[in-house]
Amino acid sequence: MTKFEALGLAQPLLDAISDLGFETPSEVQEKSIPVLLEKDTDLVALAQTGTGKTAAFGFPMIQKINADSRTTQGLILSPTRELCLQITNELKLYSKYVKGLNVVAIYGGASITEQAKQIKRGAQIVVATPGRMKDMIGRNMVDISKIDYCVLDEADEMLNMGFYEDIKDILSNTPEEKLTWLFSATMPKEVASIAKKFMHQPVEITVGTKNAGAATVQHEFYMVGGRDRYAALKRLADANPGIFSVVFCRTKRDTQRVAEKLIEDGYNAGALHGDLSQNQRDLVMNAFRKKQVQMLVATDVAARGIDVDDITHVINYQLPDEIETYTHRSGRTGRAGKSGISMVIITRSELRKIKSIESKIKQEFIQKQLPSGIEICEIQLYHLANKIKETKVNKDIDAYLPAIYDVLEGIDREELIKKMVSVEFSQFFNYYSKTKDLNSSESGKERGGRDDAGYGDIPNEGSVRYFINIGERDGYDWMSLKDFLRDTLNLEKEDIFNVDTKDSFSFFNTEANITEFILQTFTDFKVDGRFVNVEVSKSPGGSKGGKKRSGRKGGGGRRKDGGNKSFKSGKKGGFNKKGGKKRSGFY
Ligand code: ADP
Ligand code: MG
Repeated sequence: MTKFEALGLAQPLLDAISDLGFETPSEVQEKSIPVLLEKDTDLVALAQTGTGKTAAFGFPMIQKINADSRTTQGLILSPTRELCLQITNELKLYSKYVKGLNVVAIYGGASITEQAKQIKRGAQIVVATPGRMKDMIGRNMVDISKIDYCVLDEADEMLNMGFYEDIKDILSNTPEEKLTWLFSATMPKEVASIAKKFMHQPVEITVGTKNAGAATVQHEFYMVGGRDRYAALKRLADANPGIFSVVFCRTKRDTQRVAEKLIEDGYNAGALHGDLSQNQRDLVMNAFRKKQVQMLVATDVAARGIDVDDITHVINYQLPDEIETYTHRSGRTGRAGKSGISMVIITRSELRKIKSIESKIKQEFIQKQLPSGIEICEIQLYHLANKIKETKVNKDIDAYLPAIYDVLEGIDREELIKKMVSVEFSQFFNYYSKTKDLNSSESGKERGGRDDAGYGDIPNEGSVRYFINIGERDGYDWMSLKDFLRDTLNLEKEDIFNVDTKDSFSFFNTEANITEFILQTFTDFKVDGRFVNVEVSKSPGGSKGGKKRSGRKGGGGRRKDGGNKSFKSGKKGGFNKKGGKKRSGFY
């Protein structure tokens, strides 16, 4: 006798199981199947994703259902269209030797009349998403008044996504005496209360450790001026170097623009929206699954298909119009028992919306401050140090080492570390050391006024901001630095402006037309035997990034893949065929 036989499964199922190649039942199957086959009982089963829950309820349901009758006897509710299709496919495989058994999937985003037709032909088992189910009940397209079994699959996820009311409505159309089997990865109190409200003395099964996960998703909002949305998004990304996120925008156009800007700014980003071809969307999704894309910018419609488990952050670049949509968005993270964060960038006038979302999802938002430029620099610095520490040495560099030792000869360890970190870090520092506080105060007047799509930090074409590696420590204040620059460059006083000295470095501006000259002059430029280095700063008050310089020391202008170096794509921009590097007049 095989282990599956021992659970009480009949021959047609055993044959299918052997076709599938399942050898031993998983723990949740071993615990659930005999109970469900032998007893007419409600059940609550807690088990992580990937533990075989579909078969744990699928086998008993298939075995208990009367395939000779065309009446709908089993209903399975599942949170997403993907899961719905997945379960349906699995059940079809399990029941391939059960004659006359029809399993039909109903879910949003596909023809409702087609689905109604399939139901009409006779579906003993219906697998449905709550939204579409409710819709079809309302239109009398499906009859669940005689079901014997109801499965709530991924119950925590369904509640996370705001389906509580829908589930309640759907269950009110089912017979009182049906059996309810609830499967969930976690047991937050919302799930416990469903169990309590809709089930009768359920048998409880737990596989692994029980995860209380009261709130697997934390909701946060950041209040900024309307024009600062994009700058805020960048900060959120930079302050979370390991981020793996979906960024939601309201329109296809904003989705494309934000993705393009991110790519241009060196992030591993990709766009997902309906104006892309299926092929382009597949490319982006594959890259996202492989984490080559770590910020997927998407519209709500396009994001419906996202079934990726370990998304760390959902970022609402703009709030959706419907609260319902928000719950769908935030449900993309905090899956499979992991915790996740849903961040919302809002303007002051949208504060009301946060309140109404709170009351709908029955969870509070935490108002957070965007990290300051300096905080981000610190975060990135530690991230970089850690990354260097954890980097595996590449054997292929051996051949080049003698030459590299030659170049770096005479630099002591401490100095070398400083330099190495600076190579990567200066660019962050240059960008952030001059940025303003983006947080909008509750009482204060909103900056920028107009709530455009928030590309407020597009650099000013006219002037270029520079970083120079001398500062107060070297005896300069802004006036003497200005004099030094003017004398060195042989310029008028007015040609150098916005001079700002810091401890060990400073900033200044010139008109863009002399950038080349400035950089030329400071190539291999020494004062008292020390290199004085000037680079184009990426700060918002600066230029469009300046000209590319070649063969210079000190590595200016490099921010190849942004701060989020942990997912090297090597395909920067490659997933974004529509616009890619060639910007199409958006700005
Ligand atoms: P869950 O719903 O718990 O996330 P699934 O039911 O989707 O997990 O099962 C995950 C995968 O494991 C599926 O591909 C399924 O076919 C496979 N699977 C299920 N049970 C077994 C088993 N006993 N032996 C081998 N594979 C199994
Ligand atoms: Mg499942």
